[in-house]
Amino acid sequence: MTKSYLPKELERLIQSLSKLPGIGKATASRLSLYLMKKPADLSVEIAKTLIEARKNVKICPNCNNFMFDNKCSCSDSTRDNDILCIVENTTDVMSIENSGEYNGQYHVLQGLLSISQGIDPNDLKIDQLISRVKIRKFKEIILATDPTSDGEFTAQYIHEKIKDLCPMITRIAIGVPIGSEVNYIDKNTLAKSIIDRRKIS
Ligand SMILES: [Zn+2]
Repeated sequence: MTKSYLPKELERLIQSLSKLPGIGKATASRLSLYLMKKPADLSVEIAKTLIEARKNVKICPNCNNFMFDNKCSCSDSTRDNDILCIVENTTDVMSIENSGEYNGQYHVLQGLLSISQGIDPNDLKIDQLISRVKIRKFKEIILATDPTSDGEFTAQYIHEKIKDLCPMITRIAIGVPIGSEVNYIDKNTLAKSIIDRRKIS
């Protein structure tokens, strides 16, 4: 066994942090040493908020997003209840909220269908989504999964399941990013933006 020059408690902290996605041993070490150098208040605050969040944040049985203390944004009466946006995860909800262009309901899949990773409709509780759509009778449903192969597959699968349950089903537009130049756009994105062009006069 390699002898460490660090206290074993610090080694354990580094090991724990390196279990998080996107955080390798080097980042875990950097974060741990940073916390040890800062006043103890910061570590206490992080530990307390983590325990509090983990204890009280649960998955909402209606919209499948995270809710705190059994209260969810999906019961917020100031939101438009006629439109539903289906997304892969909560970070997508945060991004769409940041756009300031949407005030409807969300349904969070907590993943995407994937043949290669063996993720099937039961894993994403697609039946729960279909039941919600049947009961609520939305006027529009937006399929906002990523334009990747798994995202497109998921959107097509859900579309097939709900197409008779809602008068308008839309897919987020895919195309040329704002501020970019047409000659730098990749072939597939440009092709999609030509196919999905919209009328302006
Ligand atoms: Zn909810």
